[in-house]
Amino acid sequence: MSGPKTGRPPWPRSASAPLVSPLQPSVVYTSEGPDALDAIYGQGSGYTYAREGHPNADVTAGMIDRLEGAEGGILTGSGMAAVTAALLAVARAGDHVVGSDQLYGRSLRLLNETLPGLGIETSLLETGDAARVAAALRENTCAVLIETVSNPTIRIPDIAGIAALCRARGLRLLVDNTFATPRAFRPFEHGADLVIHSVTKLLSGHSDTTLGYVAAREAEVRERIVTLAVTMGLTPSPFDAWLAERGLLTFALRYDRAEANAAELAGALAGHGGVERVLYPQSPDHPDRARAVALLGNRGSHMVSFDIGGGRARAERFIRELSAIPFAPTLGDVTTTISHPATSSHRGLTAEAREAHGMGEGFFRVSVGCEEAGAVAPVFLAALNRLRSG
Ligand SMILES: *Cc1c(COP(=O)(O)O)cnc(C)c1O
Repeated sequence: MSGPKTGRPPWPRSASAPLVSPLQPSVVYTSEGPDALDAIYGQGSGYTYAREGHPNADVTAGMIDRLEGAEGGILTGSGMAAVTAALLAVARAGDHVVGSDQLYGRSLRLLNETLPGLGIETSLLETGDAARVAAALRENTCAVLIETVSNPTIRIPDIAGIAALCRARGLRLLVDNTFATPRAFRPFEHGADLVIHSVTKLLSGHSDTTLGYVAAREAEVRERIVTLAVTMGLTPSPFDAWLAERGLLTFALRYDRAEANAAELAGALAGHGGVERVLYPQSPDHPDRARAVALLGNRGSHMVSFDIGGGRARAERFIRELSAIPFAPTLGDVTTTISHPATSSHRGLTAEAREAHGMGEGFFRVSVGCEEAGAVAPVFLAALNRLRSG
């Protein structure tokens, strides 16, 4: 075999191709010479430097594109990198952005603190009624950011009304579709201009990779997102992208099992006297039930929130009684996990603000996993029974 005597030996050639996508961690790509490199940059016909793009990111982004019915979506280093790239691609200093007041905690912070620091005005409000959004619009409003299913309150915004409003007023609608996932809802089919994911969650699904995804309907916005991501360093690592590809191959299976388990858990909790309130899109008493049916059909996804009432001491005891379920502030794992918004995602709010949103000390959020059918709900019921008798 010829090749340099020092440094890296040449990569073996093979007439066959691997079935599994290779992991390509190379930061840099060599080319034949200045003409070839010029052509690669000029025509975008190859890879040059990993921050600018690499095959693992493109393969994984392409898989999510197919799920969302999108074109040219990009993978980012985290869900928050995707939210950031999306907002900065559509808003500049002097503009005004409207967001739901029930966004993911860090997205709230981005709108409350970071964007105003960059000269972008923001308003956060309840998005259950498009008329309220209309009333908050200003002359310089350029975009509205909502989540398909809110965290952790499992509310569903007036997406149809807000999409119609955005169209009429020339505003861009940004939809973070992390909780619903494209298996339950495809925002581009309902008027979204940009779709955002924390791929960290159910899409990747194994709590071992931190990634985001953002896609835009307009080619011009897509280009701005790519430039922002590459320039600001929001792009992902090949290894995370490679792990996410592996996760995505089983996404539909995991989603279906997790959703069935979630529906069963929601029903079981609703029937237990120790639970004051259960929030699940397919529950008959969900506050946005009509909208849930209209938008999600018979889908409910994998997130269930509920309130056992009482204060911190009762919450503390419940989590101890529920020791078989990991207490962890994330979602989308293959295993069922439970989180306590008051001490994690929403600890930045005052106790009064949390109460106003219905997330006091007794409020829990469950990310239901892919355990055997019938295995999850009894664990919760047993813990609630022990809590009641103890
Ligand atoms: C987790 C999450 C994010 C942020 O994603 P990271 O990958 O943690 O940066 C954004 N939006 C929603 C709805 C999320 O659940």
